[in-house]
Amino acid sequence: MLHIHPVPAFRDNYIWVIHNQSNAVVVDPGDATPVIEFLTHNQLQLKAILITHHHSDHTGGVAQLCRWREVPVYGPATETIATVTHPLCETGQINIPELPLYLTVLDIPGHTLGHIAYYRREPFNMVFCGDTLFSCGCGRIFEGTPQQMYQSLQKLAQLPDDTLIYCTHEYTLGNVAFARTIDPDNNDLMDFERKAQQLRQQNTPTIPTALKQERAINPFLRCEQSAIIASAQQHAGKPLPDPIAVFTVLREWKNRF
Ligand code: ZN
Ligand code: FE
Repeated sequence: MLHIHPVPAFRDNYIWVIHNQSNAVVVDPGDATPVIEFLTHNQLQLKAILITHHHSDHTGGVAQLCRWREVPVYGPATETIATVTHPLCETGQINIPELPLYLTVLDIPGHTLGHIAYYRREPFNMVFCGDTLFSCGCGRIFEGTPQQMYQSLQKLAQLPDDTLIYCTHEYTLGNVAFARTIDPDNNDLMDFERKAQQLRQQNTPTIPTALKQERAINPFLRCEQSAIIASAQQHAGKPLPDPIAVFTVLREWKNRF
């Protein structure tokens, strides 16, 4: 049985540790210290490190972790990350028999150009998607185009309903506040806000979130819904021809929200 544990880092990052109570894999360790503490305290053997993209809050702890335990480091083939030993892109696979853990790779450019996600099918679908799909939101577009980001989100949105989304930041309540202004009559969103507020009051992560839930509440996955189109058009002051145009307006609006 696999356990997936969030190690909090910095202000709002989660470093995900996937383990079976003896062996562990770590995703996006921006800081080594809390990871080493967690692994040591729980007597877990580090077997591999996975990286979704090159930003330092996702990679900053890798060198120190590799000095502590020499393990393979998987990461995006098209980004320059000195510590990566196993570069990957869309057709890539990872097999870690000690857990066991089998993952496939999805290219999801937009936040950065080489950004990848790690997807695990059966028996429980889950995806480690870095800074691309957040609960009720999405990552900023630093390197790609709005069209690339939109297509990457659509790729993630086509995974099975029960796929659990393990993103790397606790941005949920801020994202919900934005979503409420553009989708004010969405009852699922209001219910979700109450649940998310309760979790945060108890200092509990709102992540993971299920894809089915995200399709109901996340405005960036709902760019073809009439309420979202209406809000985006009103904000833009002009008609918007397609979902990518709606997405582009929403993403720029959120940057200044
Ligand atoms: Zn990032
Ligand atoms: Fe980040």
